Amino acid sequence: MGKPTGFKEIPRELPKDRSPRERIRDWDEFHERLPEEKLRSQGARCMDCGIPFCHTGTLLAGMAEGCPVNNLIPEWNDLVYKGLWREALDRLHKTNNFPEFTGRVCPAPCEGSCVLGINEPPVTIKNIECAIIDRGFEEGWVTPQIPGVRTGKKVAVVGSGPAGLAAAAQLNRAGHAVTVFERADRAGGLLMYGIPNPKLDKKIVQRRVDLMAKEGVKFVTNTEVGRNYPAEKLLKEFDAAVLCGGATKPRDLPIEGRNLKGVHFAMEFLHANTKNLLDNKKNGAGISASGKNVVVIGGGDTGTDCVGTAMRHGCKSLIQLEILPRPPLERAADNPWPQWPKVYRLDYGQEEAKALFGDDPRQYLVTAKKFVGDENGNVRHIQIVNIEWQKDDKGRFIPKEVPGTEKLLPADLVLLAMGFLGPEETVLKGLGVERDERSNARAEYGKYATNVKGVFAAGDMRRGQSLIVWAINEGRGAARAVDEYLMGESDLPS
Ligand SMILES: Cc1cc2nc3c(=O)[nH]c(=O)nc-3n(C[C@H](O)[C@H](O)[C@H](O)COP(=O)(O)OP(=O)(O)OC[C@H]3O[C@@H](n4cnc5c(N)ncnc54)[C@H](O)[C@@H]3O)c2cc1C
Ligand code: SF4
Repeated sequence: MGKPTGFKEIPRELPKDRSPRERIRDWDEFHERLPEEKLRSQGARCMDCGIPFCHTGTLLAGMAEGCPVNNLIPEWNDLVYKGLWREALDRLHKTNNFPEFTGRVCPAPCEGSCVLGINEPPVTIKNIECAIIDRGFEEGWVTPQIPGVRTGKKVAVVGSGPAGLAAAAQLNRAGHAVTVFERADRAGGLLMYGIPNPKLDKKIVQRRVDLMAKEGVKFVTNTEVGRNYPAEKLLKEFDAAVLCGGATKPRDLPIEGRNLKGVHFAMEFLHANTKNLLDNKKNGAGISASGKNVVVIGGGDTGTDCVGTAMRHGCKSLIQLEILPRPPLERAADNPWPQWPKVYRLDYGQEEAKALFGDDPRQYLVTAKKFVGDENGNVRHIQIVNIEWQKDDKGRFIPKEVPGTEKLLPADLVLLAMGFLGPEETVLKGLGVERDERSNARAEYGKYATNVKGVFAAGDMRRGQSLIVWAINEGRGAARAVDEYLMGESDLPS
C-alpha cells in the first residue's frame, strides 16, 4: 500500500462515456480513458485492507461476492499507483487470461465487495484492470507464449466463448495440442456474437484469438460437433474433450400472436447485427429496427443490448418491459455488503433511450398478454397488463395480473430477451453426457468431469447462463482437471 491516506484524499473518478446522442450514431466503444496520472491516483485509493474481500470470488445468496477469477487486486492497484505497469500486467495475467474482456464488460462484483465501499464509493477496480491490459498491448508486452515442450496429447475444446478460450489457452500452455471447434464463422462465442460492439469491440476479441493461434491453438470454425462433425469422432481423435458450448436455448413467450412477423428472439437480432457489421453490410441488414416502434421484453443485460442496438438502427420509439419491480436506489436491508448490490442502474442502452426519448424506457411490473398483427401477418401492437407479486399457499411469490390494467402499445418489432433455459442438445446427446435437473451438463464444480470418460464440461454449459468472468474461471479449472487426467498431475492453477 503505497499511499496510506489515498482513500481519504482522492475521490472515486471514472472516465466519462461519450455522450449518448453522439455515440448512437456509430458502433464504436463508448468508454473514454483516464490519463495516467489519474489512473495512478485511483490505484492509490485501495486500502490494502488486510482481508481483501474484492478477490475472494465466492457465492453469497446466489450472487458472486468478490472476483471469480481471484484477481490479485490490491497488488496491482499498488503497482499501478507506483507506475509499475509491466509488473501489474504480470500479476493480472497470473489469474486472468483475458482482462481486456472483463475490464470492459464484467459487472465487477469485486467493486460490490470492496471494503472502502462500506462507507465510500469503491475503488475503480474494473477500470484499472482495463487500463493495465490496454497498456500492455499498446507497449507490445503481450506476446505469444509458445510452450517449450509438447506432451503429444491431443485435446478438443467444443465452443469458443470465454470458457472454451480459457480452457484452450491453459491446456496449450501445459503443452497439449488443442483444437477448438466453433459452429459460428468466427471464434469468441458471446464475446463475438452476443455482446454488441459498442461494449466490446470485436477487434479486441479477434486480437486475442489471433494471439492464441500464434501460440499454437488450432481454431476450426463453421463446424458444429454433433452435426457436421460426428460427436463420436471426437472421442476417437482426441485424448480428452472439454465441452464449452454455452447455454444458448432462449426462453420463449408462447402467447397469442407469437408467430407474427417481427417477433424475434433477442439473439437473432444481436447476432445478425454484429455479423452485418463485421461483414461490412448495411446498418440493420437482416432484422432492422430502423423507423420502428420497438418493444424489448426482458429487463436484463440481453434486453439492454437490444435497446442499445435498436437505438443505433434509429428506431422510432422504444419500450422495455420488466416483470419484476424496480430495484431500490440503495442496498435493501436483506442485500448487505459484501453482496452484489441489487440497486437501480441506468445502463448504457437505457441512458441512450432516455437522452433521445426523454425517459428510461423500462416499464416495471408488467407482462405481455398477446401480440396483435395486421392483415399481412406483421406484428403491429402488443397488449400488456400490470402485475402484482403475491405469495401462494407454499409461500412462493407468483405474478398475478391486475384486472382492468390492460393496455395496447404500438409494436413493429418485438425482441424476446427473457433469459436462457440451458444448453442445446446436439453435442451432449451425441456423446451421451448426463444432464442435471436444470438441463446443464452434469459435472461437479472444481472437477468438471462428466459421466463420459475423458469428457469435461465448463462455463455456461455446466453452470447455466452466467458471466464472462465465471466462464473464464471454469475454463481455467477444467484445463487443470484435464491436465491431471492426461498427465497424472498438473502445475496449472485451478
Ligand atoms: C446478449 C448477452 C450479453 C451479455 N453481456 C454480458 C456482459 O456484459 N458481461 C458478462 O459478464 N456476461 C455477459 N453475458 C453472459 C456471458 O456472455 C456468458 O456467460 C459467457 O459468454 C459464457 O461463456 P461460455 O464460453 O460458457 O459460452 P458462450 O460464450 O455462449 O460460447 C459458447 C460457444 O459454443 C458454440 N457451440 C455450441 N455448441 C457447439 C457445438 N456443438 N459445436 C461447436 N460449437 C458449439 C457456440 O456457437 C458459442 O460460440 C451476456 C450474455 C448475452 C446473451
Ligand atoms: S474480473 Fe470482474 S470481478 Fe474480477 S477484478 Fe475484473 S472487474 Fe472485478
